[in-house]
Amino acid sequence: MRTPGMALFKQQAVEDFYDIGEELGSGQFAVVKRCTEKSTGVEYAAKFVKKRQSRASRRGVRREEIEREVDILQQLQHPNVVALHDVYENRTDVVLVLELVSGGELFDFLARKESLCEEEATQFIKQILDGVQYFHSKRIAHFDLKPENIMLLDRNVPLPRIKVIDFGLAHKLEDGADFKNIFGTPEFVAPEIVNYEPLGLEADMWSIGVITYILLSGASPFLGDTKQETLGNISAMSYEFDEEFFSKTSELAKSFIRQLLVKDTRKRMSIEDALNHPWIKVLCVCVCVCVCVCVCVCVCVCVSACDLN
Ligand code: ATP
Repeated sequence: MRTPGMALFKQQAVEDFYDIGEELGSGQFAVVKRCTEKSTGVEYAAKFVKKRQSRASRRGVRREEIEREVDILQQLQHPNVVALHDVYENRTDVVLVLELVSGGELFDFLARKESLCEEEATQFIKQILDGVQYFHSKRIAHFDLKPENIMLLDRNVPLPRIKVIDFGLAHKLEDGADFKNIFGTPEFVAPEIVNYEPLGLEADMWSIGVITYILLSGASPFLGDTKQETLGNISAMSYEFDEEFFSKTSELAKSFIRQLLVKDTRKRMSIEDALNHPWIKVLCVCVCVCVCVCVCVCVCVCVSACDLN
């Protein structure tokens, strides 16, 4: 029987409407597969989220948590945020039919590149900030920002478009309500999460600081040999810009990271502060100018070639 207030997902078999293809990735309780809508031929990503079968069980995701992820995704439409197309449900799973983001995880892209130059890094960070600004403006916190949850739409273009995915831990923050019990991946969580203090949008900003550190260096600022050591490093604010990895990094980039990895949430940069930080503003303008110059040069070369012919 359906509990009053429960979201109604489509109860037909998703396989009747979509051809299900190969696995694209998986998480703790979800498997994501490529799928093709039969009526249109358009490809999507079907996220099969295992439902928790009983209150006592520790396997699967509670229905209200799945509903929250769906509810949040339904509120979001932005070029840097994955879009939700449809939702189906069967006895064991809820199936989220999502926009297909086929360029792979930023994590893999980085693993292949080791580290990025600052101009490239700002292009990714700016897009992450644009997506985050969008959902923060709706008072939605992601609470699980990490390179694995940042995907590339197409990895083979010069400036790949990125999409923030996985809103499984996201929450809409209501005034006065106190969130404490949310825990993402240890490496990326803010000190207020480690210390079970009230949480807000600031927790995402900390994670952006960690992501930026990793993007520029290939190293992780707080990672220890054990989970406990990692959490201890975060709580103690124990990180440094190791010369081995940061010898060529600008002071502006380090100042950007420093102003995000701030323990006091009131002093940490907000999303607006981050977008206005000179490292983001200046470098992004430079890259845009370079791209425009390249395009102009290409056009001129083509025009002259045509004239010669
Ligand atoms: P976790 O347990 O890490 O929180 P999860 O169970 O919530 O993960 P997701 O992170 O949403 O699952 O997805 C798991 C993986 O599936 C991703 O890391 C990614 O590789 C792939 N994936 C997710 N969404 C998409 C998408 N829209 N397009 C392509 N691949 C996707």
